Amino acid sequence: MRLILKREIMKHFNLLGLPEALNQALLHMQFSKPTPIQAQTIPHALGGRDILGSAQTGTGKTAAFGIPLVARLLSNSRGSALVMTPTRELATQVISQLQAMLGKRSQIKTALLIGGESMPNQLKQLRNRPRLLVGTPGRINDHLQQGNLMLHDTDILVLDETDRMLDMGFTSQIEKILKFMPKKRQTMLFSATLPNNIVKISEKYLNNPVHVAVDSALSPAKKIQHDVLRVSEGGKYRSLLSELDVRKGSVIVFVKTKYATEKMAKELSKAGHDADAIHGDLRQNKRESVLSNFRNQKYRILVATDVAARGLDIPHIEHVINYDLPHCAEDYIHRIGRTARAGAEGSAMCLITPENIEKWNIINRLMNPNAPNEKTNEHRYKRKRSGKSSGLKSNGKKFNRCINREAA
Ligand code: ADP
Ligand code: MG
Repeated sequence: MRLILKREIMKHFNLLGLPEALNQALLHMQFSKPTPIQAQTIPHALGGRDILGSAQTGTGKTAAFGIPLVARLLSNSRGSALVMTPTRELATQVISQLQAMLGKRSQIKTALLIGGESMPNQLKQLRNRPRLLVGTPGRINDHLQQGNLMLHDTDILVLDETDRMLDMGFTSQIEKILKFMPKKRQTMLFSATLPNNIVKISEKYLNNPVHVAVDSALSPAKKIQHDVLRVSEGGKYRSLLSELDVRKGSVIVFVKTKYATEKMAKELSKAGHDADAIHGDLRQNKRESVLSNFRNQKYRILVATDVAARGLDIPHIEHVINYDLPHCAEDYIHRIGRTARAGAEGSAMCLITPENIEKWNIINRLMNPNAPNEKTNEHRYKRKRSGKSSGLKSNGKKFNRCINREAA
């Protein structure tokens, strides 16, 4: 009986008993119906439970933790919340969605604590006694070490894109930050995938969590039209050009290295396309301007590395082109999750050369566990690992060894 009631309530946000300001804000943001991960998370999180949430990209995880978090800040005069994300861009995106939920008239101050930005500006935000802090682990630690930031009354903690934070080596930073926080708190941990290391961490950080999982976090969003194009190494760039010619709308092209992003953006510009590049070595204000120009559709093609593009929510991206395959199979799913956000349609394309068929097989089986293998003459990849299989169990856990990842 209670379950049925809950389901009815979750058909509409405004039946949840949220603070009126939040209802208004959601209306303004045109969020009327919760997405499945939101429907499953919000009632438990409003009740104060810890959450371990996993869902594929673009399913609305930000509001899944954001709505209960904002509801709690608005209805209590004390307490504060800390949200950690792996990259600066993601932190910026998350804080702006949370600020929108707080509403324009809110008295609640916020602070964005990310690397690459001036300390004085962040100190100014911190002096205003912010009750909502969003940032990346490195900079949050800097502020803690310098005594600029207190977390003793921070009773809500969110770890967003936790799989990525761990991949990027943030584990010890996160542990240090947790030491500054009260033991009695609500912790919400979100991740697109749930490899073993996340499950372990969740046992350590979370207290009797509700586990919410929607669909398989490892299958790409459903409305993506996915194509594979066989190319030779020498003909790859020409194929890209003709693919760009037949496509309309914004495109993100993934390449392997930072250097390759810049080189390709330059070549595409020479060929008459509007393109720019993003990678982890750009200065922060450059990264921001590249992104905001892309967001505002000032140019059409963004060439990116994996780290720079993780979690980005730019609704108008229509096509994802995988010029190079990622270092890590799971990144492929995150890449193509940049399109078809929130129920829109999108296309993804992958250029495969004979050299990377084996890698492609692994990625393909991660998305479609029953997919047959393609024939290949290359056994290097197999031999490097156990020798028995291509290093991937059917559930995809094994491939999760991501090497050569660039830092954000
Ligand atoms: P994820 O973190 O799961 O990758 P996001 O939280 O970034 O996904 O959300 C993806 C997109 O869906 C965003 O543009 C967001 O504004 C939109 N969105 C989220 N929840 C809703 C909702 N309930 N109704 C309409 N749009 C939503
Ligand atoms: Mg997200």
